[in-house]
Formats: sequence, structure tokens, C-alpha cells
Amino acid sequence: LGRIFTEQFAFSASDSVVVIGLGRFGGAVAQSLVRLGHDVMGIDRKEDLVQVWGDRLTHAVQADSTNENVMLQLGVADFSHAIVAIGSDLAASLMSLMVLTELGIKDIWVKAMSPEHGQIAQRIGAHHVIFPEADMGMRVAHLITGRMMDFIEFEDGFAIAKIHAPAGTHDLTLAEAHVRSRFGVTIVGVKRANEDFQHALPATRIRAADLLIVSGPTRKIEEFASGHR
Ligand code: ADP
Repeated sequence: LGRIFTEQFAFSASDSVVVIGLGRFGGAVAQSLVRLGHDVMGIDRKEDLVQVWGDRLTHAVQADSTNENVMLQLGVADFSHAIVAIGSDLAASLMSLMVLTELGIKDIWVKAMSPEHGQIAQRIGAHHVIFPEADMGMRVAHLITGRMMDFIEFEDGFAIAKIHAPAGTHDLTLAEAHVRSRFGVTIVGVKRANEDFQHALPATRIRAADLLIVSGPTRKIEEFASGHR
């Protein structure tokens, strides 16, 4: 199963999204989608949550998402994207997914709480399975143990990170520091104190207080960030 938590939700402005489960995760997804300008229908079986979300989403509806007739009546079949953000109730998550596949939704995302949950969801027809807790746990581990201030890992251990400029690069240009050949990483951007990030060029000189955006294999970035080779 791919780890695709960091993958962008590639919606166009006209796309509508149904978010099933308005807990912490589903609520955050729904709110961000609204900010990005999408029509969002949020569904939860808990009335208090629906009230909380009522004026922040395009629609917030109290309903049981495992009930296909109810979902049909709500017009869920007309939505181009759906995300099942039910975590704790495995049966409800999978049943809701089945209903969405029955309704013919073309782009279904499922939040999975375990590898098994994800595997079954994919078998039933989820187009994307995400593991927010597991992914965030791995990310935070890198932030705690490494010298990274921010970190995103893509497939095959390839990552992009924000780090402090390592001592070995101070006062050298990127060309002089031979970062790519010595460390196997590419510096993408450089940020001086109180300035915005700039794209890195061979002639860019790195200063001790700079922040760097670096891409490359995770292990290489860690070595580079800690000043070891
Ligand atoms: P989180 O950790 O993101 O808060 P939860 O699993 O605790 O996730 O929350 C999931 C939400 O999904 C809850 O608000 C719950 O009421 C809702 N939910 C669970 N089952 C159903 C269902 N069958 N129909 C509609 N909403 C549901």
C-alpha cells in the first residue's frame, strides 16, 4: 500500500466533495476543502457535530452513511469525490465505502487505522487509502531525532526537508560546497534570516544562519543535516 498522506487532493475548483465523519480528521479535511473553494457536504451521525459544522460547510447533514437509501436521497451520487473519515468504527467505515462504490463515486479516499483496514478498503474499491496517524508518527520521529524542521517523505525513501545549513557548507557557494556529489542531496531553496525562500543556484552562498530546503534520499538528507558524510 502506498503512503499517500502527503499527496495533494487534486480537485479543480468546481469539484464537490462529500466528507463522511466529521471527527477531528474529517473536520479538518472538510474545513480545508471549503477554504480551497470547494463545495463540501459533511455527513455525521452525531447531531452535535452536524450543528458545529453547519455554518462552516456548504451542507452538513445528520445521517447514517452506511444506509444506501439515505445516501442516495442526499444526492451523494452526484459528488465527484468522497472521503470516508471514520476511524474507530471499522464496520461503519467499510460499509460506508461500499455504499459509495455502489453509488458510483469515481474518486473515493479512505482513512485507515490499520494496515488490515487499508487492505480491505482497497479490495472493496477505495481509490486512495491514507494512514494519517502512522504517517504523522513517522514524520514526527524524523523531526525529533534528526535535525529537520520539516519533513515530507515520498515513495522509495525519497524526501524533501527543511534544515539548518550544516556547518560544512557555511560561507561556501553551492558549487563550492559540492553538495550533490559529496552528500547525494540537492539543495532546492535557501532562506536567509528575515527573507523569503529563494531558489538555490550554483552561485548561491550559504550562510550559517540560513535555512535550506533539501531533497534526496531520506538517509542522505539525515547525514547531510547532521553534518556527517
Ligand atoms: P477522529 O479520530 O478523526 O475524530 P473518529 O473515528 O473518532 O475520527 O470520528 C469519526 C466520526 O464519524 C465520528 O464523528 C462519528 O460520529 C462518525 N461516524 C461513525 N460512523 C458513522 C456512520 N455510520 N454514519 C455517519 N457518521 C459516522
